[in-house]
Amino acid sequence: MEKISVAIRFRPPTPTAVDPSSDRIWKVEDNRISLHWPLGTPISGVSFAFDYVFDQSYNNTMVYDPLIKSIIRAAINGFNGTAFAYGQTSSGKTFTMNGSEEDPGIIPLAVKDVFRTIEMTTDREFLIRVSYMEIYNEEINDLLTLGNQKLPIHESLERGIYVAGLREEIVNSSVQVIELLKLGEENRHFGETNMNTRSSRSHTIFRMVIESSARDSMESEDVSNADAIRVSVLNLVDLAGSERIAKTGAGGARLKEGKHINKSLMILGNVINKLSESGKQRGHIPYRDSKLTRILQPALGGNSKTSIICTVAPEEVHIEESRGTLQFASRAKRITNCVQVNEILTDAALLKRQKQEIEELREKLQGSHSEVLEQVILKQRNDMHKSELEREKLAMELEEERKRRAALELCIKDQQKKLEDLSSLCTSDYASVSIQPKKSSRTMLDDASVSKHNVLRTPNFKAVGDDFVMKRPSCFMELDSSPTLEAFGNTADEDLWMQLNKGCITDLDMLQLTPDIKCQPLPLFDMPHEPVLNEDAGSKRCHSLATECDFIRQQLEALREKYNIMETECTLLNEENFSLFGALSLSKQENEQIRAEKEELLDKLNEEKQKLKELKKDIQRFSLEFVKKTGLQVALHTKLKEVSEKMKALKVPSDG
Ligand code: ADP
Ligand code: MG
Repeated sequence: MEKISVAIRFRPPTPTAVDPSSDRIWKVEDNRISLHWPLGTPISGVSFAFDYVFDQSYNNTMVYDPLIKSIIRAAINGFNGTAFAYGQTSSGKTFTMNGSEEDPGIIPLAVKDVFRTIEMTTDREFLIRVSYMEIYNEEINDLLTLGNQKLPIHESLERGIYVAGLREEIVNSSVQVIELLKLGEENRHFGETNMNTRSSRSHTIFRMVIESSARDSMESEDVSNADAIRVSVLNLVDLAGSERIAKTGAGGARLKEGKHINKSLMILGNVINKLSESGKQRGHIPYRDSKLTRILQPALGGNSKTSIICTVAPEEVHIEESRGTLQFASRAKRITNCVQVNEILTDAALLKRQKQEIEELREKLQGSHSEVLEQVILKQRNDMHKSELEREKLAMELEEERKRRAALELCIKDQQKKLEDLSSLCTSDYASVSIQPKKSSRTMLDDASVSKHNVLRTPNFKAVGDDFVMKRPSCFMELDSSPTLEAFGNTADEDLWMQLNKGCITDLDMLQLTPDIKCQPLPLFDMPHEPVLNEDAGSKRCHSLATECDFIRQQLEALREKYNIMETECTLLNEENFSLFGALSLSKQENEQIRAEKEELLDKLNEEKQKLKELKKDIQRFSLEFVKKTGLQVALHTKLKEVSEKMKALKVPSDG
């Protein structure tokens, strides 16, 4: 168990804003901060203690050394590490994380430290990958690839929580990383009109994944039994301005103003609050409620060495915000993490997957071309990694496209059905319109009299059924009868009339608007010698039906157009889908090709090895024979010497 380290950093005051004679001031003594009245008396209740307090005299290196250096060392040894800057806008978060040319910040200092340390670590081999992302409006954007936006967060056993489709660049020098950071900053500014607003509302996360394995294991014949691979993740985070959060109060209650709230930052506050509570009261920690807390989950109460730098603006006008920052920092100080080395014994690590190949290729070139080859391999690995990411992204896009297509198809089917309904409606309406005028006004009257003469009664009349019902459009046919008055409220508006008369509003309107007719509704049907009015009503009815028909026809046309547009969209989507499939299979092919090339190289290498082994055996055999023959020669020589000695000895007495 390890507590999170919390440091407070005061930026220098803005010269114009300070008036020492009337301002309350923050005083720093050792690692304690307290607020004082202008005359120097401390304000009670405003005093906080932290692991480190840096006043304006500290530069970035002086902050880095005690607070971050140990995290970097630990990350190189396989521990996750996180450092983030929290504070209100303009309090110095970006200055602390990025720094300036003269005073490099934590990120460049950490990058240099990582490469310096791994260069000195001779017993391990490292593979470093970096990524750079931004969370803006709860969307994750890749800062290393322009247009790579709205990336989802995934979780897997092998990789833990990760951002799918995020570009991860394999790097082998600090210069390379600094270049990538510059590229990220440029991409962030791209097309942005108000950069200040964006940077105060977005979080940036610079991430290094450090993999390493013991060098000795490289010499081992069987890679699967090699030493464990260590994989650690280092997050360096520049958070959005905390001013809105501070205004929500110590309890983290929601801001009442309907303005923009940075959800991630608010959830971060909630997560820290929960984590700072003692174990029993703690309950559910809402990591999943925001993108930021999800990504930083291991850093907060999980497996990571974490440092928080809370930046504070010293001016009087910022005192309330600063107090909020200090309260946040005090709660964060209570969090404990459970830190352990991340070791992997499976083939999952990228390094492990490729180290044998690197070693063998290095052996093959032996000496002169090894550096060139290393570059080639690095590039090949980068390419492969990229194509893997590309494939993953394409698959995701394809899935989304498929979903969209399915939804569109559903929509089209729905429209088609509506169209068919409307077509049939139109046909039946036309039929009724064309038949009606053929009837004589007399017949219409006859029909009307059959319907018990109650047609033009006022709505107070409860009885249903009228002659217009016989002529109403087919869309109303499914209704058994007009609704009774009880079904409606007290007010009789136009809709009610419409429903009561099942579409025959025109006639009623006419009758209502013409007082003469309205006054004598019943005699109209009782006196057949008033044909002018009846014919008039008939033709009005025809006219109204024709208008209705025209309206439906227009609707039909509009729907047809909509349908056509949707069909075109669907075709376009299909084509896009098709091309995505193409791209996917192409990238697969490329992948296959790279794999095949690799295998070919490996085969050749094995052949070479085999030949080498045979050669070695031959040499051994020859040297054995050589030794044997030399032994024989020596033996022969010795014998010859002995014989000649004997001969000499025999010769001497005979002479004598
Ligand atoms: P934030 O990222 O919190 O919004 P910045 O880092 O952009 O704030 O800082 C605001 C301004 O204050 C910048 O001009 C920055 O250069 C300056 N500044 C912040 N901290 C320091 C510091 N410790 N020393 C010198 N200048 C600083
Ligand atoms: Mg900033």
